[in-house]
Amino acid sequence: MSTQKQKIAFYGLGNMGASMATNLIKSGFDVTVFDLVDEQVKRLIDAGAKGASSSAEAGMGADIIITMLPAGKHVESLYFTKHGDGQRLVDVVQTNALFIDCSTIETNTSKSISSQLSANGHRFVDAPVSGGVAGAAAGTLTFIVGGATSDFEIAQPILANMGKHIFHAGSVGAGQAAKICNNMLLSILMAGTSEALNLAIANGLDPKVMSEIMLQSSGRNWTLELYNPCPDVMPNVPSSNEYNGGFMVDLMNKDLGLAMDNASDKSAITPMGALAKSLYQIHAQQGYGAKDFSSIFEAFKTSK
Ligand code: NAD
Repeated sequence: MSTQKQKIAFYGLGNMGASMATNLIKSGFDVTVFDLVDEQVKRLIDAGAKGASSSAEAGMGADIIITMLPAGKHVESLYFTKHGDGQRLVDVVQTNALFIDCSTIETNTSKSISSQLSANGHRFVDAPVSGGVAGAAAGTLTFIVGGATSDFEIAQPILANMGKHIFHAGSVGAGQAAKICNNMLLSILMAGTSEALNLAIANGLDPKVMSEIMLQSSGRNWTLELYNPCPDVMPNVPSSNEYNGGFMVDLMNKDLGLAMDNASDKSAITPMGALAKSLYQIHAQQGYGAKDFSSIFEAFKTSK
């Protein structure tokens, strides 16, 4: 399939999907969009997309279907349920179409969706992303893809217009599994770094100096390098902007929930992930749900 001839149907034009679809349009793809929110569709039509009055209409004759939806139930329902016009998406797309799901959903749901699509004569890759809203806007997302090599080879040149790093993690479901492992580790690193910096502050140390010391010592990690959780240590990060922007605590909680369900399913031992999940859950209940996940720093303050 050449780029010019591919007909892409893109579903889910929220914080991430609107920018991703816009980047595909800028690269010259033929993109038809659909979202439950009319306003989101109008914004994309203004950016050069084709609109549709129903999800089935948007997918009519599409070779490539991209979804960026909140959760697994939305993806499954969009693909396989009869909608208002009585049509199922799987029945109106091209035969042997490739479905690329970029949402973060359960590994088992991805596998089940893949089997159902295969039974309907279609193909599937899971392709969750890392890089957040800023990465989606800049077209620098990391895609972590699970699926057959032949399907990855079709998805890769399309995803490359929305992201910088495109990994093939393994078979269907491997993208979702890799994504939750990464985010579980990230949550642990963020909580641990916050705890260490607060202990340093309680000892009268300057958090900027302490951050420098750890950056040059064995505590070095991504949060210290690029995303320091202590206010005013680093410019242009959420901690220096009252924890606004970035990656919301609610979304981290969603990913930790997926990680814990998966760990239970696999009988994997994840005590650090479980503790991080508890910490982030309490943090959300204390009113931080819509704040950036680095705000967990506040939970470790000795004097508030
Ligand atoms: P969002 O809630 O902003 O957008 C989701 C969009 O999907 C909404 O516009 C909603 O109206 C639409 N939608 C729901 N059901 C639909 C349907 N049946 N048909 C068409 N549209 C439908 O969410 P988001 O922040 O863009 O995140 C999307 C996915 O990406 C989630 O799975 C999330 O976990 C993941 N993700 C988000 C981030 C982030 O920083 N926001 C980062 C990495 C991954």
